[in-house]
Amino acid sequence: MSLIVVGTMAYDAIETPFGKTDRIVGGSATYVAWSASNFYQPIKQVSIVGGDFEEKEMTELAARGVAFEGVEVVKEGKSFFWSGRYHTDMNSRDTLITDLNVLEQFNPILPDAYQDCQYLMLGNLAPAVQKSVIHQLKNRPKLIVLDTMNFWMDIALDELKDVLKLVDVLVVNDGEARQLSGEFSLVKAAKVIRAMGPKYLIIKKGEHGALLFYNEHIFSAPALPLEEVFDPTGAGDTFAGGFVGYIAQQDNLSFETMKKAVIVGSAMASFCVEKFGPERMKEINAADIDARLAQFQELAHF
Ligand code: AMP
Repeated sequence: MSLIVVGTMAYDAIETPFGKTDRIVGGSATYVAWSASNFYQPIKQVSIVGGDFEEKEMTELAARGVAFEGVEVVKEGKSFFWSGRYHTDMNSRDTLITDLNVLEQFNPILPDAYQDCQYLMLGNLAPAVQKSVIHQLKNRPKLIVLDTMNFWMDIALDELKDVLKLVDVLVVNDGEARQLSGEFSLVKAAKVIRAMGPKYLIIKKGEHGALLFYNEHIFSAPALPLEEVFDPTGAGDTFAGGFVGYIAQQDNLSFETMKKAVIVGSAMASFCVEKFGPERMKEINAADIDARLAQFQELAHF
């Protein structure tokens, strides 16, 4: 059994009210892997990088049970590059640069060793690539989770709608849910989006937590109120990694497990924002995660 993670492995330039970095490792699959590997291993990564991607970043993830057979290295190419600037509220940001670079030519071929996939996490990436990975799997995984963003809604909406028909869970933020559905009310948006394919919908609301929609049920998870949010980059991917990693660990698809997985995702995201890039994710251990989960329990229990 295994968990496949598909997404970008990238370099980011980030500006927040607290600081600025011109080049730090990032990418949706990087954050998902750092987060999910706390709960489940092996993780079989599918991505593409250029010759500029530092080997040290892969070695560190390999030590966390992440396999790279499905990661293509284009020696003469440049890795995906993204740059963003956060507003003072830290909930909104402007994308300044999205350089697809090697991603433009990405056409992943799944290694045979990836065929035993039970859980598939389609991290933020071109919808056509997400779909191609689903089609290459001979047996449908037990659960397919998809993350996406406004960028793909703007330039590849039809392909996105196509892949949405094939997945079980969609993870988006509130702005993206509104854009995708054309509805302002998140309850109405959830109805419209679930009619597009996914049985489960998770809407992340930054510092206001996350909502899980399933049939007539709505589950609301808090976000941990933090004194300081240093850098929210990757919080969404880290949430998704915690969510799918926990479900793979439990190997159970009940609504109760999904609810706990949303809390685990929120707890992981609360670590991610404490430092720049994935720095904090590299430091934490099982005891830190348990303590944070206890804080969540305390926060919402009545
Ligand atoms: P998040 O803050 O969770 O939305 O994720 C930020 C990460 O997503 C950064 O590390 C970026 O490298 C990566 N990213 C930004 N734009 C895209 C995109 N259009 N497709 C895939 N990954 C992206």
